[in-house]
Amino acid sequence: MEVTFLGGADEIGRSAVLVDDSLLLDYGMASESPPQYPVGDVNPDAVVVSHGHLDHAGAVPALMGSGDLPPVHWTPPTRELATTLAEDTLKLHGSTPRCPFTDTDVRRLTQASVTHGYGEPFEAAGYEVTFFNAGHIPGSAHVLVDDSEVRRTSGNRTQSDDGDTRLLYTGDFHTGDQRLVAPSTARPDADAVICESTYSDVTHEARDTVEQRFAESVKQTVWEGGTVVVPAFAIGRTQEAMLVCAANDIDCYVDGMGQRVTKQLKRHPEFLRDADALRGATSSARFVTGGDGQRERIAQQNTVIITTSGMLNGGPAMTYVPAVRHHPTNKVALTGYQVEGTPGRQLLDTGSAELDGRVMPVSAQVELHEFSAHADRDGLLGFLESYRDTPVLAVHGDRTAAFAEELRGEGFEASAPTLGETVTV
Ligand SMILES: [Zn+2]
Repeated sequence: MEVTFLGGADEIGRSAVLVDDSLLLDYGMASESPPQYPVGDVNPDAVVVSHGHLDHAGAVPALMGSGDLPPVHWTPPTRELATTLAEDTLKLHGSTPRCPFTDTDVRRLTQASVTHGYGEPFEAAGYEVTFFNAGHIPGSAHVLVDDSEVRRTSGNRTQSDDGDTRLLYTGDFHTGDQRLVAPSTARPDADAVICESTYSDVTHEARDTVEQRFAESVKQTVWEGGTVVVPAFAIGRTQEAMLVCAANDIDCYVDGMGQRVTKQLKRHPEFLRDADALRGATSSARFVTGGDGQRERIAQQNTVIITTSGMLNGGPAMTYVPAVRHHPTNKVALTGYQVEGTPGRQLLDTGSAELDGRVMPVSAQVELHEFSAHADRDGLLGFLESYRDTPVLAVHGDRTAAFAEELRGEGFEASAPTLGETVTV
């Protein structure tokens, strides 16, 4: 098998891995300014998407532009989330060079879509592919690609190739607890592993400790008469924050794209750890429509507001944070890692943030609660322990070369592919 890394190799964002010039695993975009897309021209026979985050699924509609549509294989939640992301990208960048697809492409995606559950092998570009729960967000999958039955009569490759390679592409995964999804436990046999390494040098605190500190801090502010703004990603983190609030008897408002995503995820109970808990959290939360100065009024209340965006670069948080920023009784409780260069990171580091083009000092308290949906260093090593004798390709991190070297030090056969590189496995 020849594996080419078109994005998301020694970087986080725009993940895309091409197998034998035929089967494409993920096709993401990095939401930098301007957005970044995978390199090279691809014309795959089939596409398999690991999960519905922008950096893995965001550019998939761009593959629908010409000729025969390649089938796009994913789980039902991934299909819904990817469609929502595509519509959002059209809204933000549509009809500009910053958006590589049109609304027609997004409609064609519906025709090309084929959904599969976990543990149900299917055929894609002649390969046998199987999804396993990756414990990252609802519908997220480890992708096992088996070429032993490969028949490439219509594929891009001309020679016939009776291979015997099983490639495991981990996608993003978590081996630890979250309220929204069960952790990854499947460890299918493989001959090569492409492993994400987002947190290869980080040790997460235990989830219940993070959760308890968050709940106590939020309750304290509310008790003191303040307002808490909880910036959260629409997909995964908003629902996790709702579940944590519900479990700790904290009333909350929910605003932004996370509302729509919550409704979508409720339609796929089999991909949730506890569908009843999400139903309960949804019925006790108050969803915000945002009309008629509603947000400004809510921001004056003694309450908790969960809202996009998670790193303060857009969404209704642009109304709430400026509204609560003057009073030290109020609080901005960030719910995950803040990428360098984002307003959220700027706020943590300097106490000011550029919001909607204006630099604003924030007197409200600012906290970071590290809810994570990725395995940390111990989680990654624990996962890879099942692949001791298997070559490991470390990707999706900002220190993949260092991590591969550390793995070699532990006795693994490990390497870190670079952007555009082709590796034979
Ligand atoms: Zn992800």
